[in-house]
Amino acid sequence: MLIIASHNGASGIADAMRALKNDGSAMDAVEIGIRVVEADPSDHTVGYNGYPNILGELELDASIMDGRTLNSGAVALMRGFPYAISVARQVMERKLPHVLLAGAGAERFAREINAEAWEDMLTDEIRAVWRGRLAASTATGEFPSLSDDSPLLEWVKLATDPERVAGTVNFIAIDGQGDIAAGVSTSGWAWKYPGRIGDSPIIGAGNYADNRYGACACTGMGEMAIRAGTARSLVLYLQMGMPLREAARQAMIDLRDLGGDYIGGMNLIALDRDGAHIGLSADAGRTYIYQQADMAEHVEVEREVVEISARWAGLPRE
Ligand code: ASP
Repeated sequence: MLIIASHNGASGIADAMRALKNDGSAMDAVEIGIRVVEADPSDHTVGYNGYPNILGELELDASIMDGRTLNSGAVALMRGFPYAISVARQVMERKLPHVLLAGAGAERFAREINAEAWEDMLTDEIRAVWRGRLAASTATGEFPSLSDDSPLLEWVKLATDPERVAGTVNFIAIDGQGDIAAGVSTSGWAWKYPGRIGDSPIIGAGNYADNRYGACACTGMGEMAIRAGTARSLVLYLQMGMPLREAARQAMIDLRDLGGDYIGGMNLIALDRDGAHIGLSADAGRTYIYQQADMAEHVEVEREVVEISARWAGLPRE
């Protein structure tokens, strides 16, 4: 039994491991671990009290994948329901003929299954950060009032900043049966354009699990993982026979081929079916955590760095 997670999964990993030890499935462990992070108001990149979009609204993305069957469920742009991972899992469990529900449809489904709803998903502290960020982007330093028909195109460019790539939570578990599951949950980029969907709810981009080979989950610039199919690539490289480290490095190296304006940070965690695990990042100093059943608590370890921007650096862009 093994759980690996992005570093901000530290608050949830003990509960997730307890679930595994009590005969819970890998799917249970992933959901339980992520729920703890989603409810934590101090994590501003996941669930309740995450950084909102440019209009100050919190839109959540999440997905979960069962490596036994390759079944998956996902939600995107969901408002008003803190436990996006649980709603994502229900998209799968309730046997909808769908994998991903977004926006009003995801909220409707969440209501229909009586998912826990919270009236206010943001604290005043985070609203103040959002207002401050917008105000700092105007010539006058005044908070701009953005209405339904305000042009937002320039606003999202002005308001992007390092926070936009700051986080998301990943959990991958192997249970006592040897089954693998992977889950991802996020509030996405801070100050994103309303309706922007990242890699986290897209199976194959930010999340992939297959019992026969292994699993991968991503954080970082979701647009890149979508374009490169990063999580699926890594698992496919395992399927092709590469050892875990090589497969993971290749999935990162593939990102070098992406031209255009969205080159930025990318991080992944991955494991193979034998329980070897790895964390990679484009940036130095990033960590991930893991815990095996025989460990009293989790351990935090450095991610290996893979430079991803080399190929396009200095080249003219269209
Ligand atoms: N991958 C997430 C997204 O693009 C954000 C992040 O991990 O920072 O929505």
